[in-house]
Amino acid sequence: MDIGGIIEGREERYNPYTGRRVVADLADPVPPAAALGLEPPRYCEQCGRRMVVQVSPDGWWAKCSRHGTIDSKSADRR
Ligand SMILES: [Zn+2]
Repeated sequence: MDIGGIIEGREERYNPYTGRRVVADLADPVPPAAALGLEPPRYCEQCGRRMVVQVSPDGWWAKCSRHGTIDSKSADRR
């Protein structure tokens, strides 16, 4: 029996920099500047939609039409 199937629905995530769906065992490259929090995400992590991004002197914010706005402070939760 093949147990290598896809477990779906649990936590669908999208790469905020590429907009591609994040697959559990596939490493998704994050740009170095983005890893440092210097670059704003361009896609919503939850739905993969392109967000409206605004960079300001003290950070950035990005807005998904469905999931609202995130900013550089709220994204800094790791
Ligand atoms: Zn969204």
